[in-house]
Amino acid sequence: MCGIFGISGHKDAARLAYLGLYALQHRGEESAGIFAYDGRKVRYHKGMGLVGEVFDEGAVRSLCGSLAIGHVRYSTTGSSHVSNIQPFLVSHIRGHIAIAHNGNLTNVLGLRQSMEEKGSIFQTSMDSEIIAHLLARSNKKDYKESVVWALSHLEGAYSLVLMMNDVLVGARDPHGWRPLCLGRVDGAYVLASETCALDLIRAKYVREIEPGEIVFITKDSIKSVKPFPKKRQAMCIFEYIYFARPDSNIFGKNVYLTRRRLGANLARECPAKSRACRGAKSRACRGAKSRACRGAKSRVHRGAGKKCDFIMPIPDSGNYAALGFAKAAKIPYEVGIIRNHYIGRTFIQPSQYLRDFSVKVKLNPIKDVLKGKRIVVVEDSIVRGTTSRSRVKAIREAGAKEIHMRISSPPIKFPCYYGIDFPTKKELIASNRSVSQIKDFIGLDSLGYLSLDGMLKAMLLPKNSFCTACFNGDYPVKPSAKLAKNLLER
Ligand code: SF4
Repeated sequence: MCGIFGISGHKDAARLAYLGLYALQHRGEESAGIFAYDGRKVRYHKGMGLVGEVFDEGAVRSLCGSLAIGHVRYSTTGSSHVSNIQPFLVSHIRGHIAIAHNGNLTNVLGLRQSMEEKGSIFQTSMDSEIIAHLLARSNKKDYKESVVWALSHLEGAYSLVLMMNDVLVGARDPHGWRPLCLGRVDGAYVLASETCALDLIRAKYVREIEPGEIVFITKDSIKSVKPFPKKRQAMCIFEYIYFARPDSNIFGKNVYLTRRRLGANLARECPAKSRACRGAKSRACRGAKSRACRGAKSRVHRGAGKKCDFIMPIPDSGNYAALGFAKAAKIPYEVGIIRNHYIGRTFIQPSQYLRDFSVKVKLNPIKDVLKGKRIVVVEDSIVRGTTSRSRVKAIREAGAKEIHMRISSPPIKFPCYYGIDFPTKKELIASNRSVSQIKDFIGLDSLGYLSLDGMLKAMLLPKNSFCTACFNGDYPVKPSAKLAKNLLER
C-alpha cells in the first residue's frame, strides 16, 4: 500500500502536496517524500517516518514551483529502507523523471533480469525503479509515446503519478487494482489516491482515472489516452474493507457507507446468538423440562436464540461495519475498547515484532462496560489470527461472559500479489484452518464470516469489477514468479 499525490499549475504546489500526503498517511507510514519543479530545477525533500516527522515548515517552503508530486510508503516490494523512499528520480538525456507508484508489478523479476543482462544498474530493490528505466530507455520522440511504450511492458498493479520535466502524468493499469482520482483547485489539476486528499485542500472531485487510462497534465490543459486493450476489471475490494479512509470515495462509492452495508449483510447472514441458547442441546436449555427454558415462550429461549447484550467494534477498522450490524440486528451499539490514537495502524507495521507491540499499547478494554456481558465483536478481517487472539484475551480478562466475533469479509486464504502486504499462504490462518478451528485458536464462543456474495452485494457495483483473489484464489493475472517483498534484495 502507498498513497500518491500530484498537482500541476498551482503556486503552492508543494504545500498542497504536503497536505495531501497528510490526508493519505493511512496508506503508508514508513516514509514520505515530495518533489517539486519550478521550470528550471527539481527540488525534493524525503525521509523515513510520518509526513509530520519528515517535513517542517522550512522543508515545505524550500520546494518551490507549480508542479509537485508526493508519496507515502508502505513497503510491498523492497524493504523499508532509505534507498527505497519514493518519489524516485532519474535524470536522462531528455530531462528528469520522478515517479510515485502504488501497486505491485507481477512481471518484475523477468523485466529486471532482462534489463540487468543488458547493462542496467539498479539503485533500489523496488519494482517502481523498473518503470523509470523503461521511460528513460524509450527511443520515442514524443514523451506521451514514451509513457505508453514503457507502460505496455508492465503487468500487475500500478497507479502512478509521474513528473516528466514540466508535465504531470497520471496512470492506472488496465485492470484498475489501485485507485486514483482527479480533482481541481484554483484552476490547478490534482491527482490523488483517495478523495480525502482532495477534501483537505478544498479541491473539487472531477472523476476517477479509469483503468488503462493515462492523463498528461500541463499547466492549463489535460489530455487523456486509453492506449491498451480492455482487460477484466479488478478493483481491489480490500480498499473498501480495510485500507481506504471511510470519508473517501473509492472507485466512485463512499467507503463509510460501504462498510455499513457490509456490517448489515453480515448481521443478516450470521446473526449473533448467545451461548445461553443452542436449541435443545444447550446446557441452559435441556428441552421443555428445564427450568431455564419452558418451551418457546421462555424468556431465556425464544425460539432460535437469545440476542447478545451489545455489538462493539474493534476500533477503528471495525467501527462502521459494527454500526451497520447493530442497526440491522436491532441490538445496541456500544464502545467496549478505547483506542490510543497516538499509535499507528497495527497491520501497517512492517514487522511482526512491531505489530505485537502495537496491539498491546493500542487498545484498552473498558472493564465496567464489558463485565458479565455477552458481546458481539465486529472486525473487518482476520489475517494471521494472532492479533485477534490477543484482543479477545484482553476482552475476556476485562470480564466479558461471552465473546462472539463477526467478520465483515470472507476468510482470507490466499496471498495478494497486487500491492497489499499479506503474509504467505502458510501464515494466513484461514488457509489451513476451518472456521471452527480459527474460533478455537482465537478463543471465541462463536465466529462468523461474511460470505463472498454478501460482500460483493454491499459494493453496489457490478460483481465482476472486483479483484477477490485473496478470498477465492481467482487471480486476474498470475504472477510470473513467486513474488515476495524482498524478491529484489541482494
Ligand atoms: S488479492 Fe485481495 S488485497 Fe490483493 S488486490 Fe485482490 S482483493 Fe485486493
